[in-house]
Amino acid sequence: MSIRSKATAAVASAAAMTLFAGTALAASPGAPGAGDPYFPKYGNGGYDVSHYDIRLNYNPNGDQLSGTTTILAKATEDLTQFNLDFLLKVKSVRVNNAPASFVSDDGELTLTPRGGVRKGQDLTIVVTYADTPSTVKDRNGFTAWTKTPDGALAIGEPEIASWWFPSNDHPTDKATFDVNVAVPNGVEAISNGTFVGQTRQINGWTRWNWRSTKPQATYLTFLTIGQFEIRQTTTPSGQPYVNAYSERLGENADAAKASLERTPEVIEFLAENVGPYPFEAQGGVATPNLGYALENQTRPVYDTAFFRRGANTYVVAHELGHQWFGDSVSVHHWRDIWLNEGFASYMEWLWSEHIGEGTAQENSDFTYDLYPADSPFWDVLPGDPGAGAVFDGAVYDRGALAVHALRAAVGDEKFFQILKTWTAEKKYSDATIEEFIAVAERVSGQQLDELFQTWLFTKGKPAQAPGRTADAAARTLSVDSAPAKAAEPKSRAKIQLTHELLDAHK
Ligand SMILES: [Zn+2]
Repeated sequence: MSIRSKATAAVASAAAMTLFAGTALAASPGAPGAGDPYFPKYGNGGYDVSHYDIRLNYNPNGDQLSGTTTILAKATEDLTQFNLDFLLKVKSVRVNNAPASFVSDDGELTLTPRGGVRKGQDLTIVVTYADTPSTVKDRNGFTAWTKTPDGALAIGEPEIASWWFPSNDHPTDKATFDVNVAVPNGVEAISNGTFVGQTRQINGWTRWNWRSTKPQATYLTFLTIGQFEIRQTTTPSGQPYVNAYSERLGENADAAKASLERTPEVIEFLAENVGPYPFEAQGGVATPNLGYALENQTRPVYDTAFFRRGANTYVVAHELGHQWFGDSVSVHHWRDIWLNEGFASYMEWLWSEHIGEGTAQENSDFTYDLYPADSPFWDVLPGDPGAGAVFDGAVYDRGALAVHALRAAVGDEKFFQILKTWTAEKKYSDATIEEFIAVAERVSGQQLDELFQTWLFTKGKPAQAPGRTADAAARTLSVDSAPAKAAEPKSRAKIQLTHELLDAHK
C-alpha cells in the first residue's frame, strides 16, 4: 500500500465509523489485493464474485472496445469501499442500482458505494467503460492485450482480465461467465464454454454469445476476435465442441487441424487416467501473434508456431491436462504453480507412452540426464520458484520429474488413485502444494515429506533419477568412463519445442 492510499484508507475508515455508528463492528475498505505473496495487488478483499456478465462492442478498426460488465457478488465483510482490478477508462459505476463514486489508479478501480455495504449483502455492480486496450499499460509498462492485423487477442497468464473486464483478478475467486461481444458482420468473436448463438444487430454488426456454467478463473477467460474458420460439432461423449482456426495460419493450418481436431480423443485418454472431464464444452483455437499456448477453460488457445514442424498433439495434451490441473483445481497462490505446470507437463509423458513414442520412464530418464548437475536448471525450485520464475523451464521439466518421482515411490495403482482423488476433492476450487502432499500421503499410506522436499524445495540435482532401475542405471555407465545418457524418446523433440514456446509466456 502506498503512502497516499494509506492516507485515503484512514480517511475512509473515519467515515466508516460515522456511517456504522451504533453497530458493534466498524466497516473498513476492502483490501486492494487477495494476499498473494508473489503478486500482492492481484485480486481484492471483502467480497466474493459469483457471476460476470460481459457485454461489449469491439471494432478491430482502431481497436475500440466499449460496453458494460455486470458483476454479481456477495460482501464478505462490512465495507466502506472496495476494489476491482481494471485498467481501462471507466464512464460510470453503479452498485445495487445507485451511482457509486470511483477512482481509477494503477490498475485498481476503487468504488465507494453510498451508505457502505454490509457483510452478507448481495451486490450487483455495473461498470460501463470504453478504451483502446492495446494502448493501455499496467504498472510495469506491460500490455497483455494483443492487437492483431484482423482483430485482437485477450489472452494471458497470470493477468489479462484488466484489459477487457473489471474483476476480482485472482484464481481464488472463480465465477460463471456470459461473454457477449458485438463485432462488424464478417468478423468472428470466440470465447469460453458453450456457443449460445449469434444475434444480428441493426447496425451491420453481429453479437456473439458465449456461456461458461462452471466456476472459471478470470485469467482463464479469453476473447479472440478476427477472421477465423469455425468448426462447430458435438463430441462422441455428447458435449458441444467448437474449434477456431485463424485464416492467417498459412502453411501451418493443416498441422494445427490435425492436432486440435483430436481434442475429444485426448480428453478421453486423460479422463481415464486422472478422472472425469470437469467441464461442459470442449475445443481449441489456433492463431498467430500469441507466441505461446494457454489453457483457457474448455478452449485452449495455441500459437501457430507449435505446428511449424507438423502436427503436435503434445501441446494439446499439455493444455488439456490443465483443464484438471490449473483450471478445475487452481493455484491457491501463484507460488503453487507446480500444481499446474508439473502435472500438465507430465500429461505429455503419459500421452507419449500412449501413442508409442516413448514411455513416461524413458522421458523421465532423458530429462534427468539432459541437465548436468552444475546446470542453473537445478537452482529453480518448482515448489517456490519466485514471482520472476513462475514459468521457468524448470517448473515444467523438473516439475514433471517430481511427479514421476511420486509415481515411482508409490507405484502405478496408488499414483493414479492419488490423481483421481485430488481432481475429485478439489474440483472447481483452489489448492496448495501442501494440500497435494497431504492427499498423496493419505492415499498412499506413505510418509512422502523427504521426496517432495528433495524434488520441489531443494536446490541441486537429486542424486537418484526417479524410477530408474539398477539395471538401467548400470547400462548408462559407459566403460569409457563418461556416463552415457538415456536414449532420446521419439516424443522428445516435440515436447522440447512445446516447452520452449510455453516458456515464452512471461
Ligand atoms: Zn502449462
